[in-house]
Amino acid sequence: MSRFFDTRLSRLEAYTPGEQPRDMKYIKLNTNESPYPPSDGVIKALGEAELAKRLRLYPDPECLEVRTLLSVVLGVDKDELVLTNGSDEALSFAFMSFCEKGVIFPEISYGFYKVFAELYNLKYRQIPLKDDFSINADDYIGTDETVFIANPNAPTGLFLGLDEIERIVTSNKNRLVVVDEAYIDFGGVSAIPLTKKYDNLLVIQTFSKSRSMAGARLGFAVGCKDIIRDMNTIRYSTNPYNINSATLAAARAAVIDNDYYMENCKKIIETRAYTTKALCELGFEVLDSKCNFIFAKHKELDGEEYYLELKRRGVLVRHFTSERIRDYNRITIGTREMMDVLITQTREILAAKRG
Ligand code: PMP
Repeated sequence: MSRFFDTRLSRLEAYTPGEQPRDMKYIKLNTNESPYPPSDGVIKALGEAELAKRLRLYPDPECLEVRTLLSVVLGVDKDELVLTNGSDEALSFAFMSFCEKGVIFPEISYGFYKVFAELYNLKYRQIPLKDDFSINADDYIGTDETVFIANPNAPTGLFLGLDEIERIVTSNKNRLVVVDEAYIDFGGVSAIPLTKKYDNLLVIQTFSKSRSMAGARLGFAVGCKDIIRDMNTIRYSTNPYNINSATLAAARAAVIDNDYYMENCKKIIETRAYTTKALCELGFEVLDSKCNFIFAKHKELDGEEYYLELKRRGVLVRHFTSERIRDYNRITIGTREMMDVLITQTREILAAKRG
């Protein structure tokens, strides 16, 4: 730390992204990226010479064309939608803007919530999950703090029914509920239609997972016009050009090619069922995931040992060290071929262990 670093930030524990090692070629099942390439339309759009020439100019700060196209797909008004640099930025804006009375979020959830709460110096409470790792909606009823819920939750993969989300939203109309739907396209049901009914609900999604665009950094938030106006006030006060021209060009094509991405989601859901079944047959316990990953443990294998053994064999998964989930690993769903390698290696690890 330099002597110039603000002392209020000196104890901040930054978010640790999943590892992106370059030492060898891994089967990468650790950061929930899509195994499928962007659509042909996206690849073509990014290859256009016109796009490269346009880099001379600033991008459209209103992102009008993409916002208009996307709002049609989502069934909302374009002014109920704001585009952000990854959904992390939408979360950042929400933590920055709507949390005067503090925040609550599940104890086991997306690690960035705690980082943002600390970065913005907010009071926060982390609410324990039930024994089966599900969220108990009752814990969020009758509270005043802004709620952040990842739905489906990560890294558990469990989905909380929309009736439960609605119960939390209606229990206190004077506080905001933020639903982070990064993984919604893999079998959950989106709360976006509820934003028409409730002005205290903000829904955040991303192009990083189901739309194969993690590297382009595009997320978005949907809520009533007043909330979106506030988000734009923050956006224009930090980085009005938060979506670059290349990402806008890719996003335009990705929205047009929506069907391609929804087909990929179906494939991932099928491969998730296939992988879950195979791992259960090998003695794993696998939570009921509605995401493009599964959360799994095996009673004969220490979580860290399984992660390290897989890594040694060229398969990368995500291991967390916090007490309650250290026996588990989060495994991204890749193609069927990638998952066959994981299953084969797992079988060998178990055989070696059993001697
Ligand atoms: N929310 C959740 C629950 C996530 O797992 C992630 C991915 N790390 C994000 C938000 C942020 O994704 P991105 O910024 O790539 O949209």
